[in-house]
Amino acid sequence: KEELNIIQGALELRTKTVEDVLTPLSDCYMLSSDAVLDFCTMSDVMQSGFTRIPVYENERSNIVDILFVKDLAFVDPDDCTPLKTITQFYKHPMHCVFNDTKLDVMLDEFKRGKSHLAVVQRVNSEGEGDPFYEVMGIITLEDVIEEIIKSEIVDE
Ligand code: ADP
Repeated sequence: KEELNIIQGALELRTKTVEDVLTPLSDCYMLSSDAVLDFCTMSDVMQSGFTRIPVYENERSNIVDILFVKDLAFVDPDDCTPLKTITQFYKHPMHCVFNDTKLDVMLDEFKRGKSHLAVVQRVNSEGEGDPFYEVMGIITLEDVIEEIIKSEIVDE
C-alpha cells in the first residue's frame, strides 16, 4: 500500500508545480537586510529552527540574499555585526524558479545541487501597469520529497 502511494506520488511530480507545494511568503521566517546580529536577533534565528533564512530589503517580497544559519558560527553577538557584513562575505547564490515549474524539473535542479532552497516567483500581469515579477514564497527539497512520500517529514 505504502509503495503504491510512493509510486503515485512520484508519477504526480510530472503534473504538480512548485506553486502547489511552496511555503507562502507570509509564512516565511525572514530577516531584514538592515538587521543587526545582536543577542536578540541571533537567539530569534536559533529559535526559528530553520537552516536557511531569506533576507529582504525594505519589503518582504524583495528577497536579496539567503543567510545560512551555519554562517553565524563565528559571529559573536556582543560585536553586533550588521547582517550585511555576513551576507556580503558569503554571497550565497539565490536560486529563483517560476511558479509553473513542474516538481520533477525542480527535483532535478535540487539534485544538481546548487542549493536546496529556491525562491518562487510569478509574472503578475493583473492590473493596468506592465507585468512584473512577484515573489510567491519558497520551496525546498523537503517540500518535493514530501510530495513523493505523501506525508509530513517531522523536523528534528
Ligand atoms: P530546514 O532545514 O530549515 O528545516 P527544510 O528544507 O527541511 O528546512 O524545509 C522544511 C520546511 O520548512 C519546508 O516546508 C520549507 O518550505 C520550510 N522552510 C524552510 N526554510 C524556511 C523559512 N526560512 N521560513 C519558513 N519556512 C521555511
